[in-house]
Amino acid sequence: MIALAIDNRIFAAAILDDGGAFISRAECPTPAGDYRDWLVAIRDLVAGLAGTTPGMDVAVAVPAIISTGSISITPLATLAGSDLRRDLQSTLSREVSLSGFGDALAAFHAHAGETTGPLVALWIGTSCHGGLVANGGVVTGAHGASVNWAHLQLPAPVPHELDGRPCWCGRNGCLETFLSTSGLEADYERVTGDRRTAAQIADAVAVSDIVAESVIQVFEDRLGRATAAMINLIDPGTIILGEDTPLPDRMCARVPRKWPGYVQIDRSNTQLAACSAGHDALLAGAVMLASAR
Ligand SMILES: [Zn+2]
Repeated sequence: MIALAIDNRIFAAAILDDGGAFISRAECPTPAGDYRDWLVAIRDLVAGLAGTTPGMDVAVAVPAIISTGSISITPLATLAGSDLRRDLQSTLSREVSLSGFGDALAAFHAHAGETTGPLVALWIGTSCHGGLVANGGVVTGAHGASVNWAHLQLPAPVPHELDGRPCWCGRNGCLETFLSTSGLEADYERVTGDRRTAAQIADAVAVSDIVAESVIQVFEDRLGRATAAMINLIDPGTIILGEDTPLPDRMCARVPRKWPGYVQIDRSNTQLAACSAGHDALLAGAVMLASAR
């Protein structure tokens, strides 16, 4: 099967065999143009994949909520209002199946058998997405929106966290405005007046930059509050952090220390783990979900 992952920085494509092994890969930067330019770039990307055959279907991971096979809502303005599945089927002359980033990440980790209890997968990138695994299968929800944590309000906010956080969804103070890479970068800019990428902020922590350290500590505390809310609501065995999470090993070590202040039960069975597979997790997860339909 052909796999695609579409976001606002990169388009990734791969062919996976029936066992989920990667046979070939290709990627390209996301075009700066409009929707039609995106379709053309995807067509060219797939055409350049080694090993495609005419009968191969396409599994696509998109940063979106997918309901009844179509995009319900997405932070990508270029895709808003589009019928991506129909247009990709026409462009590629192949059967296309869409999955959200959160569900794809969850499917990948369900397949890896990483938990005995429910698993919550949190994709942290320029936007945030979530997925849920229970009883070995992905639970997409009645509207494809299970674990749509990105647009919950930040739990236990302090006064300065209550204002000035407009979200693309039209609300204010959504978790995505704090816990995305773009939220982290905005926090750093708010403090310093300088714009740095999330990766540059993480690098600065490694050389003991006191401002970057402070910004990351605030991020950790907010991620602690957000994940504690998941524990209170779902009681998962594992919470997975998607790869764009800044300093993932540090987050996995430090964030659980925040939980006792926000969780009413003993939560020692809940593990926080980082996904190291990056976009490969999205590609493989999208194929798993498409194969199961
Ligand atoms: Zn929002």
